Amino acid sequence: MQAILQQIHIEAQALFGRGHVASYIPALAQVPPRQFGIAVALIDGSTHAVGDAHTPFSLQSITKLFTFVLALKLVGDDLWLRVGREPSGAAFNSMVQLETEKGIPRNPFINAGALVITDILTSRYAHLDIALLGALRRLTDDPDLDWNARIAKSERDTAHRNMALAYFMKSYGNFVNPPELVLDNYCRQCAIEMNCAQLAQATMFLANSGLDIGTTERPGEQFLTPEAARRVNALLLTCGAYDAAGDFAYRIGLPVKTGVGGGIVAIVPGKGTVSVWSPELDAKGNSVLGAFALERLVQLTGWHHD
Ligand code: GLU
Repeated sequence: MQAILQQIHIEAQALFGRGHVASYIPALAQVPPRQFGIAVALIDGSTHAVGDAHTPFSLQSITKLFTFVLALKLVGDDLWLRVGREPSGAAFNSMVQLETEKGIPRNPFINAGALVITDILTSRYAHLDIALLGALRRLTDDPDLDWNARIAKSERDTAHRNMALAYFMKSYGNFVNPPELVLDNYCRQCAIEMNCAQLAQATMFLANSGLDIGTTERPGEQFLTPEAARRVNALLLTCGAYDAAGDFAYRIGLPVKTGVGGGIVAIVPGKGTVSVWSPELDAKGNSVLGAFALERLVQLTGWHHD
């Protein structure tokens, strides 16, 4: 595995310069673009990493995966009264479908859907950031895991479109809390930072029928039921890469979640997880080198055939 990752690292560097770092969140525009890290965590507990796999990056939309899982654990199938589970085929921050579909977002991973999920969690937790960090610190075994206040503020100061989405949904009765409060929580959530090795570890439960494998100090924990984990993976496969979900399924064929910080996490059910990070994005907001690396990884390991 280490040799495969090293080969991918070398090949991927040829693609530097083909994308652009996200700039609509001003603080993200300052991230040095030519970075690349990849980590593979396997169910046997081993982790393999190369490049900048231990450099923390902004998770952004990858946090939507964790908030969705928390909401599913809290409210179960009632969640589907407020958000759909179909790919949107539209940009992650699009407003168009919300009008024809009467304020019900297509899925939990586009911005409108993620805002509804954060609204649900805001009703349940007085301090959502602390609740979310608590779960993520446990999954990564890192008590220092945190959100980046500078990036959260930068997004919050410029969150005009997300605020518009929230108010629009409120006009249809699909938003409970004040949009300002939910946006505060949402921007903190998106600003959580992890490195590739941590992200691979934190998502291991999705590759392992809902069971987080734990560490030598901490026993494993059934984080989700096997049935729920299977369903989360189905949604990640169909909706995890914005309007490039079809292309990702074709090229990579694994459940994934991408973020505009340049991270992508991929789940290989029964085997492990892969986390890759490189800040330069394509036109749809997905990491150029990240998508390439995952495509090469499934080619070189044959994981997509299993
Ligand atoms: N915080 C970002 C936003 O709401 C997340 C987008 C993303 O990573 O796709 O615009």
